[in-house]
Amino acid sequence: MNFFEYRDGEMCAENVKVSDIANDVGTPFYLYSSASIGYQFSQLKNAFNNLDLLICYAVKANTNQAVIKTLAALGAGADVVSEGEMRRALNAGISPEKIVYSGVAKTILEMTFALNQGIYQFNVESGPELYQLSEIASVLGKTANITFRVNPDVDAKTHAKISTGKSENKFGVPWTNVRKICAKASELPGIKLVGLDLHIGSQITDLQPYEEAYTRVAELIQDLRTEGHEITRFDLGGGIGIAHDEDNDQPIHPTEYAKMVERVVGHLDCQIILEPGRYLVGNAGILVSKVVYVKEGGSRKFLIVDAAMNDLIRPSMYDAYHSIVPIIRSDDKRELYDVVGPVCESGDTFATNRQMPPIKSDELVAIRSVGAYGAVMSSTYNTRLLIPEVLVKDNKFAVVRPRPTYNEIIGLDKLPSWLSE
Ligand SMILES: *Cc1c(COP(=O)(O)O)cnc(C)c1O
Repeated sequence: MNFFEYRDGEMCAENVKVSDIANDVGTPFYLYSSASIGYQFSQLKNAFNNLDLLICYAVKANTNQAVIKTLAALGAGADVVSEGEMRRALNAGISPEKIVYSGVAKTILEMTFALNQGIYQFNVESGPELYQLSEIASVLGKTANITFRVNPDVDAKTHAKISTGKSENKFGVPWTNVRKICAKASELPGIKLVGLDLHIGSQITDLQPYEEAYTRVAELIQDLRTEGHEITRFDLGGGIGIAHDEDNDQPIHPTEYAKMVERVVGHLDCQIILEPGRYLVGNAGILVSKVVYVKEGGSRKFLIVDAAMNDLIRPSMYDAYHSIVPIIRSDDKRELYDVVGPVCESGDTFATNRQMPPIKSDELVAIRSVGAYGAVMSSTYNTRLLIPEVLVKDNKFAVVRPRPTYNEIIGLDKLPSWLSE
């Protein structure tokens, strides 16, 4: 479902004209659709009707409080990877009994905070982390519910930088060591082993690596039960991909995904935890930018827009494809453009040799599918201001993170005494 549609030739976000928001907020800005988030959430939830399910939104995809709160209101829990994210989730109204904590380097301070809040589960990734958590929980007089993150040594067939389930990746306990570490865990104070988890990567568009990994972990769960462990949870991780190129991409359908999960792990009768990030918010966001100049280069035509790699790093970091379309629809004959930003690096390129209708300076374009790993990865490189985030609901919109001022950015620096006289 597309919640950014053309009406009378003009792009709308739900029932608001994108150009009206641009006039009000100024470009560039991120624009999110509440209805899109709600639609994706219910698609996933309904697909898993037959299973005991907890959807823990992977907050790192988009940490805006309004986005988390939108999902919290739908019943989502959270998957967090830092104390900061846990605070954001709690602040948006997600109960600690719905929060799971992932990550390879949870610190003593982070573990203490999460235990004191009464977190649902730690996804433990190594022996040293297990011992550390046991020690802290014991000191605090608490019990930490844990799963071990299994590294199943499966190729998720996605971009190398977001592939996390191969033996050479830093994530998880090698699957061959899981039984041993579980035996250890059952002897330690302050620790209660409740399940296993995994997360093999992001933007996965093929069910096969999931099935391979889940099969492996399901077997481990059977083994653990035989050895006397009481395993009640199976956390399947996130990573379900989205269509970035709406005309050509074939992402996984939630119903197919759920069917496979039922077939492969249903017999275990575990609570199923999902940690989707991109799937819930990726297609719910666009980046609206204005064309500053159209430049005829030596061999290319450049569309220089006012957004840059510091606002959206995915194309330069992951070679990500993002569809770019004008806000005013045009059926004119397509031309080839390189769409670039103002930052002083050739990597500041959103698209090369892209077919687009002729576009002039001051016109607005939308970079699509940027609701996940967009705003959260932005920086102020080139002393460019972080761009605003706007949330639409039906015919209303609100700025959910305002653009800071230059003084706020520069004022973050402090001069040492010897330079401030
Ligand atoms: C990033 C991450 C997710 C979410 O990944 P998506 O591709 O956005 O669904 C889920 N679980 C863990 C442990 C992660 O690190």
